[in-house]
Amino acid sequence: MTEGRWPHPRPGITRDNQFFWDGLAQEKLLIQRCAACRRLQHPPAPMCPGCHGLEMDSIEASGRGVVHSFVVAEHPPIPPFAYPNLIGLVELEEGTRLVTQLVGVEPEDVRIGMPVHVEFERVEPDYVLHRFRPASA
Ligand code: ZN
Repeated sequence: MTEGRWPHPRPGITRDNQFFWDGLAQEKLLIQRCAACRRLQHPPAPMCPGCHGLEMDSIEASGRGVVHSFVVAEHPPIPPFAYPNLIGLVELEEGTRLVTQLVGVEPEDVRIGMPVHVEFERVEPDYVLHRFRPASA
């Protein structure tokens, strides 16, 4: 009902997560990796929780994963999002997890372990979000 009337909220961009949002703008899902021990982490952070390394690079994820957990947000409705808002915690095949919107599936049909794949939503010309859809859809 309120779609189009409210601007989509923008993420807080920092020196630690700039690469992630730049990657999305190119429709790439980039995951931060510790340059020392190669541990993956998301969301990006300035320090590796494994070895306390400060040097980071990134890998491009395949975009394939499974639903690890999910929640259906229903109240309070916050524009411009559609409700019920299906939010998933997706385990990527590379071995880290990220929070994302789930699309192409009704809340009652989501299953833990359901294969999903990434797609990209160009909200505005310079602003792209990731979301995940069942792999069979
Ligand atoms: Zn490390």
